Amino acid sequence: MNTEKCLVPGCKNKPWSRGLCNTDYSAVRRLIKAGKTTMTALEQAGKVKPAIRPARRDNSWFIK
Ligand SMILES: [Zn+2]
Repeated sequence: MNTEKCLVPGCKNKPWSRGLCNTDYSAVRRLIKAGKTTMTALEQAGKVKPAIRPARRDNSWFIK
């Protein structure tokens, strides 16, 4: 059962990106664009989840 919800209190939408639903994520994007906040600040405040990086091979082990 998928009980995942948007991080915004009271919001019951399904998370779309960074733990936020599509609506709240667009709101955040607008605030960032307007210079009101940054993704880093929101991440540190626990208001967004860290970006899920696309699965990419980490080849740095070979050159250590
Ligand atoms: Zn939401």
